[in-house]
Amino acid sequence: MELPGDSHVHSEFSWDTGGPDSAAAGRMTLTCERAAAIGLRALIFTEHVDLDSWITDPDDVMGHQTPMYREGRFHPLRFQADRYFEAIDRCRLAFPDLRILAGIEYGQPHRSDDRVADVVDLTALDRVNGSLHTLPFRDDRAEPNTMFRHLPAADVMWAYLEEIPRMIASSSSFSVFTHIDYAVRSWPVATEGPFDPARFEEGFRGAMRAIAHSGRALELNTRRLGAWQVQWWAEEGGREVTFGSDAHDPTKLANGFPEAALLAESVGFQPGSRPEDPWRRR
Ligand SMILES: [Zn+2]
Ligand SMILES: [Zn+2]
Repeated sequence: MELPGDSHVHSEFSWDTGGPDSAAAGRMTLTCERAAAIGLRALIFTEHVDLDSWITDPDDVMGHQTPMYREGRFHPLRFQADRYFEAIDRCRLAFPDLRILAGIEYGQPHRSDDRVADVVDLTALDRVNGSLHTLPFRDDRAEPNTMFRHLPAADVMWAYLEEIPRMIASSSSFSVFTHIDYAVRSWPVATEGPFDPARFEEGFRGAMRAIAHSGRALELNTRRLGAWQVQWWAEEGGREVTFGSDAHDPTKLANGFPEAALLAESVGFQPGSRPEDPWRRR
C-alpha cells in the first residue's frame, strides 16, 4: 500500500523545535531528504501559530531555561512567515519529485481569527490544521499538562472535549481538526491508571459530531492512534481523514502510517487522487 501524505510535520519554523535561528535550522531540508528516502510522495509543513501566551508551571516548560517562559507564562515565538515561505521554495527546487505543501498548525483559532492575518496570510497556505492546546483556566488559559496538576483529571478531559464544539462553531479558518486526543498525552497515569477512552466516549463522540457536521476532516495523529478513534469517527458521520505524524524530528516522519492507513481502510476510507488529499468515505 502506498503511504498517504504526511499532513502534520514541523520544522525549524515551529517554536517548539527552537526556531529558525536555533540548532534546529535546516530541519526542513533534512525532513525532505527523509521523505525521499522512505518513499513518501507528499508532506505538509504545518508550523505552530499560537498568537496568545498562557499560564504554565515551570515544571511543564521545555528545557526550563527557555526565554519563552517568563513569570509563570509561556510566550511562544512568533511564526516567521516570510522566512518559512522562502525555505519552502528552496525545498521545492531541491526536491522536485516530492510534493511539498505549505501549512500551519493553528492553535485556538476561535480565540484569534481576528488577528491571525497579522502573522500569516491564510490564503497563501495549502492546509490549515486547527488544534486545541489550551483551555480556560483561572480566567486565563493553560495547557492540559498544567491543569492535570491542579484539577481532577476527569474535569480536565471533559473541559477539553466540551471546548471542541465551541472551537468548531467559532472559527472558519481551519479545515482539519488535529489530535483530538491531545489531552490524553499528559493524562496522569500514575494516579489515574491507563487512559480508558470508554470513560469519555460521549464526549469524544459529541466532539466528533461537531467536527463532522461542520464538514471538516479529522486528523489521525499517529503519535498514538487507537482504533476507537477511527471507528467512532466513522460512526458519527465523519467523511474525511488526514494522516499526521506530528513529527518534530525527521526520523519521526510518517511514523505508524501503514497501520493507520489499514485502520482507515477498514472502516471505508479511500485515498484521493493526490497523495496529500484527505481520504474519504461515502
Ligand atoms: Zn499540536
Ligand atoms: Zn503538531
